[in-house]
Amino acid sequence: MKYITKYKSPNFNSRKNSRVQLIIIHYTALKNTLEAISYLCKKEKKVSSHYLISQNGDVYNLVEDKYRAWHAGQAFWHEITDINSISIGIELDYNPNGKNNKFSFKMIYSLKKLIRKLLKNYKINKNGILAHSDIAPFRKKDPGKHFPWQSLSSSKLILNLRKPKKREIKIIENWFHSHNLKSKKQKTILALSLIGYDTREVYKNDRLYNKLVRAYRNRYLNSKDINNNKSIYNTLIKHLFNFLLTKN
Ligand SMILES: [Zn+2]
Repeated sequence: MKYITKYKSPNFNSRKNSRVQLIIIHYTALKNTLEAISYLCKKEKKVSSHYLISQNGDVYNLVEDKYRAWHAGQAFWHEITDINSISIGIELDYNPNGKNNKFSFKMIYSLKKLIRKLLKNYKINKNGILAHSDIAPFRKKDPGKHFPWQSLSSSKLILNLRKPKKREIKIIENWFHSHNLKSKKQKTILALSLIGYDTREVYKNDRLYNKLVRAYRNRYLNSKDINNNKSIYNTLIKHLFNFLLTKN
């Protein structure tokens, strides 16, 4: 893994004293690393990221961590909408429709190494490693359903959401009951909202509700469970249980 600092993006400003709390993972959807560097460093594009990782695992530092890079766009997480001020953005040289349509071993190896360093430097909580599609589920899909979240959880960088225990299901179901939530949809929305997702518009808009559930599913379920509604619901219960336990 090479760490390359010779390309710099002019697209950043001050974090306004905000602390780094999140890491946001993206894919570029461009042709290759060179094209991505040129895009992320062009003033007119008004976008950037702190890091870009190539298919062969080279890490390009385009914006210093202390500055606010412009990668999140319109986004939301735990009531916060200025995600750029509180996050580090990592772009992966990946395009679902290009020749670079694999998350290579070297790329993921470097990504994990970088994440490990950032977690330590900024004391970021394991709940703070997010997909662009987590913070902007209604308009963004990256890093997409093939991104190897499982590999990050095996390396203990993010939470491992195993099947919930009966006792855990009972605790959460009782908790839902005490909040007078009856339908699965109501429970799902409350759980997603407590985890951090933007649920402001989904109560009254089925199209947005479906997009949000899809974003969650693509991130947390493996391909064999992806269309199983019971697995989605159980994963959400496990997630909420873990989240309520590990808060702060
Ligand atoms: Zn993105």
